[in-house]
Amino acid sequence: MKKLSRIRNIGIIAHIDAGKTTTTERILFFTGREHKIGQVDEGTAKMDWMEEEQSRGITITSAATTCTWRDHTIQIIDTPGHVDFTVEVERSLRVLDGAVGVFCGVGGVQPQSETVWFQADRYKVPRIAFVNKLDRKGADYQRVVDMIRARFPKTHPIAVQLPVGKEEEFRGSIDLIEMKYWEYEDDGSEMKVHVGTVPEDLQEEAEVYRKVLEEQLAEHVDAIAEKYLEGEAISADEIRAALREGVLTKGVVPVLCGTSLKNKGVHQLLDAIVDYLPSPLDVPPAIGMNLHTGKEETRGPSEDEPFCALAFKIAADPHGDLTYIRVYSGTAKEGDQVYNPARKKPERLNRIFQMHAADRIQLDKIGPGTICSIIGLRDTGTGDTLCDRSHQLVLEKPRFAETVISQAIEPKTASDRDKLLGALQRLSKEDPTFKFLVEEDTDQILVAGMGELHLEVQCRRLEREFRVSANIGKPRVAYRQSIEKGACGDVQFTRQIAGKMHAGHVTLELVPNESEESVEIENRISTDDIPREFHPAILEGAKNAAEGGGSLGYPLIRLKVILTGGSFVQNESTEIGFTTAAAQAFDEALEAAGTMLLEPIMRMTLVVPTEYLGGVIADLNTRRARILETQSESEPAVVVATVPLGEIFGYTTTLRSLTQGRCQSPVLEPCDFAPVPPAMAERIFEIGA
Ligand code: GDP
Ligand code: MG
Repeated sequence: MKKLSRIRNIGIIAHIDAGKTTTTERILFFTGREHKIGQVDEGTAKMDWMEEEQSRGITITSAATTCTWRDHTIQIIDTPGHVDFTVEVERSLRVLDGAVGVFCGVGGVQPQSETVWFQADRYKVPRIAFVNKLDRKGADYQRVVDMIRARFPKTHPIAVQLPVGKEEEFRGSIDLIEMKYWEYEDDGSEMKVHVGTVPEDLQEEAEVYRKVLEEQLAEHVDAIAEKYLEGEAISADEIRAALREGVLTKGVVPVLCGTSLKNKGVHQLLDAIVDYLPSPLDVPPAIGMNLHTGKEETRGPSEDEPFCALAFKIAADPHGDLTYIRVYSGTAKEGDQVYNPARKKPERLNRIFQMHAADRIQLDKIGPGTICSIIGLRDTGTGDTLCDRSHQLVLEKPRFAETVISQAIEPKTASDRDKLLGALQRLSKEDPTFKFLVEEDTDQILVAGMGELHLEVQCRRLEREFRVSANIGKPRVAYRQSIEKGACGDVQFTRQIAGKMHAGHVTLELVPNESEESVEIENRISTDDIPREFHPAILEGAKNAAEGGGSLGYPLIRLKVILTGGSFVQNESTEIGFTTAAAQAFDEALEAAGTMLLEPIMRMTLVVPTEYLGGVIADLNTRRARILETQSESEPAVVVATVPLGEIFGYTTTLRSLTQGRCQSPVLEPCDFAPVPPAMAERIFEIGA
């Protein structure tokens, strides 16, 4: 297996159309050629390279692709740019170690690149930036660098290149670290790079920007600060080492430039991935929970630790479903049995594959840092952990946002009901933010997701991929409930069931827990009060009760259940007794605490021609929106606001008429749940919606 320090697991994140696909294709193309280096001078015909590009174009739609550069293995994990599919981005951010942000040289920091960038901040993913499309009219590298600095408070961009030639004259760049000129010659089929001295007329400008680079780096890296202040010369190696340190720990982001379409700058981007982005050794160990002890444990990137991996994507494949996993620790071989602790199921690694540029390579052994796909897992879903059965650990799941919208769905022909349920099961296994449930009293099927578009796309897939036609109801807000204050429950349960005595006594406490979306259960029961073997029954009782939802039947969130104690009577206390006591104690505490209704709030970014700005904002104000930011100094204006989801159903149509069709569709992203204003909550109570 490859030395860990020579692995780079990266994602490419970008606004739609910034050039993510083109850049990925070029990376695969140039690294593919690297393989064949020395094999004569291939005067690759234009057709060949088109063909190659096409076959690679297919592979890059897979969740992870591997390539090689400077004897390093680069695994590119796919991150779709569309925010309606934030789940995709979230789960890939969880498994990658570093990322390349691609920005359009004209558009700069666009709303969607902003969203993914903040997500990457949350996962503390080290990044480099590539300003693409410098061949386009109106492209301006420095402006984009400034925009990155202005828009992202936690990011410290440092320009490490100076573009040479503007717009269609763009020829290459000066590497401000080595002080060399990279000139790319592009005749359509063959790509040549000349690396030479800085042209005389650019020398002065290059010196200035080199000083700026040193100065900015000195602000973040001590070793450079000393030399810079002393006025000592700083070597290229020292700068690279300092940049690496800055990227890994300080939010420094080296900014590169080029045009993927015209094959300029991609070689240097690959160098930068190797030079600055982390290997699996450079990131903190994975954190998970040991299900036996209830304690946190870590798994470092070592073959000697127990096996532990995270399933981050499931994709349908003609050969059977592919489950993509990232290994954090330990090793496993093809045919090995591993364990899925959340589902309490063993799983066999029947066949292991790695996508390698255009080929699928079968692996017989996997270890820390490996990203691969497995065929033959039966019960594992997205976000599940696979581990060594004797060292069970559940890794922190990617933070999948709670669903915010639901819709009734029913098959067009009643005989299709099972088919529909089967298809929904498949779709929800692939996408953890797409859920479905069958309502108990009405038998109605409900689907829930992240937004109108998300549900629309998934329902279209039902027809296209699963051939089930369904009627879809009106979108509804997916409310939640939580508690405003803490309360305690104390239930002593005793009952004769089928001639046997069942007893249990449980005390617990509910506390509001803003930091967690779900219901968290903490077990503080002393084994002196209740023997350990009964604790699982108590946990189950509390969990089931919590899953039953609040007084209106909406799911409970932001709530912590602390199991505090209880008592045990020999020959009377039973598992059933404890499960029931725990459930009743939960209900008692919930009643005492009182629940409040929460509604989903969306973060909305609008790009509006300035002449319509006033009208759009006035309309937003009637929708309980909060305007967070308005950028109206340039055309078009950008408005960022938060607004309750219930206020913006069908908003795209309204927006179109407000702006005479001149406004792009809003970018919507679930961002919070907030208490429903009392007057509205009352209405919802009445309807019992
Ligand atoms: P993605 O949505 O981020 O994957 O972007 P794509 O790679 O699909 O590119 C979107 C469009 O921009 C396509 O028409 C590309 O041909 C074009 N494009 C990508 N890179 C460049 C570039 O460097 N220069 C120019 N002029 N166009 C580019
Ligand atoms: Mg694309």
